[in-house]
Amino acid sequence: ERKSIARSISKLDEEITNKIAAGEVVVRPSAALKELLENSIDAGSKNINISCREGGLQTLQIQDDGHGIKVEDFPILCERFTTSKIEKYQDLAKVASFGFRGEALASISLEGKLEITSRTADQEVAYKGYFENCRLVGKNGAPDESPIACAGNFGTQIKANDLFYNNKQRKLSFKKKEEFMRIVNVVMNYSLHYCMINFTCKALESNNTPVSTVNINREGKTKNDVRKILIQRLFGGIKQSDLFDITEEFSFSDLKVEIVCSKANAKNSIKKNTLVLFINNRLVKCERVKKGIDTAYHAYLPQGHHYFVYLSLEMNPRDLDVNVHPTKKEVGFENQDEISDAIAELLEKHLSQQNESINFGDPD
Ligand code: ADP
Ligand code: MG
Repeated sequence: ERKSIARSISKLDEEITNKIAAGEVVVRPSAALKELLENSIDAGSKNINISCREGGLQTLQIQDDGHGIKVEDFPILCERFTTSKIEKYQDLAKVASFGFRGEALASISLEGKLEITSRTADQEVAYKGYFENCRLVGKNGAPDESPIACAGNFGTQIKANDLFYNNKQRKLSFKKKEEFMRIVNVVMNYSLHYCMINFTCKALESNNTPVSTVNINREGKTKNDVRKILIQRLFGGIKQSDLFDITEEFSFSDLKVEIVCSKANAKNSIKKNTLVLFINNRLVKCERVKKGIDTAYHAYLPQGHHYFVYLSLEMNPRDLDVNVHPTKKEVGFENQDEISDAIAELLEKHLSQQNESINFGDPD
């Protein structure tokens, strides 16, 4: 017979709980980048440049031309639960779907060494601060330092150095090439969703820029037309003319749907079924939605062919599952079946219409 002794319960101190939380937000370099990207987008940036070294593990850097961070805010910038985006409990409902606001910079500063330079519109100069373990520190971790005035453009530059330096096990588990590909992928997907913002992303070790949307001609084009250009340019093997778009609204969940996707008869060389899914402006994964899309294409795609789907859903935040941690990419939501089926039906309708026009010899 097994008998064990009950041990008394004690509360973990804040340092440990902060570390645990940080490890959940910043699971890998691309997860950190996603948070940093969203901050730059929230700041109203028009140009966002990302560069990294060793797949983001040595350096992960993002530079934007957004509204910047006031130097007075530097001392609390990387503390947990400090944010400029919600003030009162009621505001939380609007963003609660992805929960845990004010945690990203704190978490990144616990997993790596942060260097933040920022200049707001009314500042004569930029200021630079170093952050470790949620605190503003001096260069090389010296305690109690204040931000240093320096030259700099309007906007913010954030450099995360030596991510996971205090977690060797995790650091060693990453393959640099693979992490870089994940970063590139996150940037490609965000550049598709926020198609009017210029993005670049490159590895500092190399001369090429795998993602650049800088010289895309957006003039007089709809967002979805710009997205078609971006898909052709960034995702490889897909022609603009092989893509079509759908915009639809549903009465349930205040659902708005935006789709840019490949035609079933596209002479494409898409290597695998690809779904780029944004729900309420956040890149997520949802198996249920994917299954619906698989089904819709299944009847029309020739054997061995694949689809590409960019899908943006906007729904009442009330219907998003708040129990899902924001960094768990897989999300759930109310009416998940109803919504997934509605999207599948919508796609299937468009694909079947295209199919008919082929049978009647329409060149399109
Ligand atoms: P949250 O985004 O949930 O507010 P974060 O930890 O990601 O929490 O960021 C904390 C705050 O830092 C933000 O509310 C914002 O005021 C400021 N901030 C972070 N990144 C930027 C940026 N690139 N440009 C302007 N402000 C930023
Ligand atoms: Mg944030």
